[in-house]
Amino acid sequence: MAWDFQTEPEFQEKLNWVESFCKEQVEPLGYVFPYAVRSREPKIRALVKDLQDQVKAQDLWAIFLDEELGGPGYGQLKLGLLNEILGRYPSAPQMFGAAAPDTGNMEMLAAYGTDEQKERWLTPLLNQEMFSAYSMTEPQGGSDPNLFRTYAMRDGGEWVINGEKWFTSAGRAADILFVMCTNGMFVVPRDTPGVEIQPEPRSHNHIIYNDVRIPEDHLLGPEDGAKVLAQRRLGGGRIHHAMRTVARCTLAFDMMCERALSRESHGKIISDHQMVQEKIADSYAMIRMLRLFVLETAWKIDNTSTQEARTDIAAVKYTMAKVLREVSFNALHIMGSLGTTDLTPLQDMYASAPTMGIADGVDEVHKATVARRVLKEYRPHEGYWPTEYFPAKREAAQKHFEPMFKADPELKEIADKYARYMASRR
Ligand SMILES: Cc1cc2nc3c(=O)[nH]c(=O)nc-3n(C[C@H](O)[C@H](O)[C@H](O)COP(=O)(O)OP(=O)(O)OC[C@H]3O[C@@H](n4cnc5c(N)ncnc54)[C@H](O)[C@@H]3O)c2cc1C
Repeated sequence: MAWDFQTEPEFQEKLNWVESFCKEQVEPLGYVFPYAVRSREPKIRALVKDLQDQVKAQDLWAIFLDEELGGPGYGQLKLGLLNEILGRYPSAPQMFGAAAPDTGNMEMLAAYGTDEQKERWLTPLLNQEMFSAYSMTEPQGGSDPNLFRTYAMRDGGEWVINGEKWFTSAGRAADILFVMCTNGMFVVPRDTPGVEIQPEPRSHNHIIYNDVRIPEDHLLGPEDGAKVLAQRRLGGGRIHHAMRTVARCTLAFDMMCERALSRESHGKIISDHQMVQEKIADSYAMIRMLRLFVLETAWKIDNTSTQEARTDIAAVKYTMAKVLREVSFNALHIMGSLGTTDLTPLQDMYASAPTMGIADGVDEVHKATVARRVLKEYRPHEGYWPTEYFPAKREAAQKHFEPMFKADPELKEIADKYARYMASRR
């Protein structure tokens, strides 16, 4: 049914399973064995495999991939509903084979890779036998891809890459790097001579590509196609971040409400103070709005394409950062001193809000994109006055009625009376 906001009962059953699976199995594993998914320790790997096998048995593995790309084809809306749960648990996306930055890279491979490239990289990435990173941003400026300089030169049967990349997340731990060059997207094994990972920053790496030689078939997609591939990768990634952000905002909200009902001050439970109520009410409305916007955008992607839903994806991107900032601030504030410590998720959540406004493109650039695209649907008005200028509208309405006035002079007299009355009120 159109405009039906309910989840199909069969999928709701899966979501219920995911909820208890995450709470009962994924979360405890994350507390005792942090980063378990990337561990090489056989005993930890066995624990992870057991959980991942349960996910696969539910047919929920790597559900970000559409059917035509070899995935189960649930679509973005269902992925949104799933991510609303996974986003609450830091290690859950990896447990479901749906964690960044691998997801976006796999999507590029699935969409643009040759059969041979898919076999070499996509299958092991899907099975988490391999991990990847995405090397696009450069030190001289990230927001404007026209400033990028990293270039691949053909030399015999090889490509030789020279350039410098900044903030490649998890580059140090990746097996392969997707390197955006001015003349194409390339897959570079991290241990290739000339890949020089700088000591700082630790998690988002500064990498110098110094005469890095890779075989000819490591070009992904067409030559000069890097920007198209990057758009495809980042579009999907942004909406996935937003889905998980709904989960994080909801977690902050739950913590805020629990605390508001638990603390007392100046003779009242703090939830009875109006300024606390305002924070709860505002946060509630912001999360509802974000959630609907995210799910509607996911639905649009399912019914059109990432490209066609671009305006809304960009708008969701800066909206989620703002809602996360405000809701996590409200929750942290209501938590008082405890909120400022690292003993709850709130401090990290609040600190991550500005990061969300920068990662995957700064808010300003997305806002400019939205305004530019929205304005394409409008035209300037003619003459001095806007379309909704009342005197012009009245004049046009009078013209509309002229034939009736001619046929019925009494009606004209009534209209004149109305006009005189309305003029006397102005
Ligand atoms: C957590 C995190 C993970 C990341 N992971 C990766 C990764 O895996 N791979 C990768 O390649 N990159 C990654 N990035 C980098 C990210 O893509 C860039 O940070 C982003 O594109 C902005 O580039 P910049 O940092 O150089 O900022 P700049 O481009 O220097 O922008 C700085 C500021 O200038 C202003 N500004 C810039 N352009 C405009 C404009 N057009 N209009 C108005 N104001 C403007 C804004 O205030 C902006 O915040 C990551 C970033 C973060 C924070």
